[in-house]
Amino acid sequence: MDKFGYMEKYGFEQLCFFQDKSTGLKAITAIHNTVLGPALGGSRFWAYADEEEAVEDALRLARGMTYKSALAGLPLGGGKSVIIGDPNVLRKDPIKREAFWRAFGRYLEGLNGRYITAEDVGTTTQDMVFVNMETNNVVGLPGRSGDPSPYTALGVFKSIIACVLHVYGSEDLTGKVVAVQGLGNVGYHLCKNLHGAGAKLIVTDINQESIDRVVNEFGATAVAPDDIYSVEADIYAPCALGATINDQTIPKLKVKIVCGGANNVLKDPAVHGKALQDRGIVYAVDYLANAGGVINVSYESHELGYSEEAVLRDIDRIKWRMYDILNIAKETGKLTYQIADELAEQRIEAVRNIKSIYTGKKQ
Ligand code: NAD
Repeated sequence: MDKFGYMEKYGFEQLCFFQDKSTGLKAITAIHNTVLGPALGGSRFWAYADEEEAVEDALRLARGMTYKSALAGLPLGGGKSVIIGDPNVLRKDPIKREAFWRAFGRYLEGLNGRYITAEDVGTTTQDMVFVNMETNNVVGLPGRSGDPSPYTALGVFKSIIACVLHVYGSEDLTGKVVAVQGLGNVGYHLCKNLHGAGAKLIVTDINQESIDRVVNEFGATAVAPDDIYSVEADIYAPCALGATINDQTIPKLKVKIVCGGANNVLKDPAVHGKALQDRGIVYAVDYLANAGGVINVSYESHELGYSEEAVLRDIDRIKWRMYDILNIAKETGKLTYQIADELAEQRIEAVRNIKSIYTGKKQ
């Protein structure tokens, strides 16, 4: 990979490598964009096949965070760290574990606030507690903003309301049928919200306990994992895996709306976004629909401190932003994800211009 070429093409600011011989830490931080504020993004600990794969993951995920925070209206940029290794091996060695994460924290402290980290795949809240012993540039700590999943689910719920308003002309979910795929942290809370609003649920998961819980608590009807795409429903809500909107599933869909919590729902955004549009199915941009969690955690680094009231206000804005995007798509014929990307880029460009008139934020 031509790293400078890639960084130039996609507007990356910085790519940092860090190693600590005594703990075996090997970390890479990609800072995509800090125009709107410090780059926020989790630290992913993964047994990457090689360095190249790790760099590509860091770059791809960091850029995604820029768009997510920009569209959600947050004063934050996009970044991501990846750590190469096996988290299970480290967890078996508590002494080394503390040193490992503190070494990572010291390295982040050296980035001087340009990047704020959080928990991600392969890392835990306890790991972040060790990171916090060396730097304040970490969010998602115990006793602060808490589990992001209910907030992510609330953002998805608000997005579904925006889609229903757009398609049916009313926000009323009574009797609307929602097919929910994945009943984990996000899916469960989404079902709770939908049930409370009078929607009917058709659900699936690969875990029987998760299915039993929503069947018992919310009167949901369970179907086999592969059948979720073809059920008679108004909305398909993917809350398990990415890329479930693809060549195989699109012809099966009977819904009018696709809106869920999963990341990268469209296997190929240009191809499958267009295929949904051609079938008259409304697609709620995933990175806006599932921004509730990042909104919640971001308030830990807010200068006025964490405020659930502010978080809920920002999550409510997801609804209206989604509604605007759907209306622009209808008027222009553009795909919803293209409009979302453009709005995010426009916000960054507007703020980039005002930044040139002063040297930085006053303390
Ligand atoms: P989770 O692991 O708690 O839940 C995922 C659920 O999907 C599990 O119950 C799992 O059994 C089920 N599942 C896996 N494969 C399946 C399949 N083939 N068919 C049906 N069910 C299947 O994860 P989560 O935190 O609820 O996140 C769900 C999705 O939302 C993920 O794609 C995640 O990246 C995304 N997301 C989550 C958050 C958050 O705050 N948790 C924020 C943004 C995006």
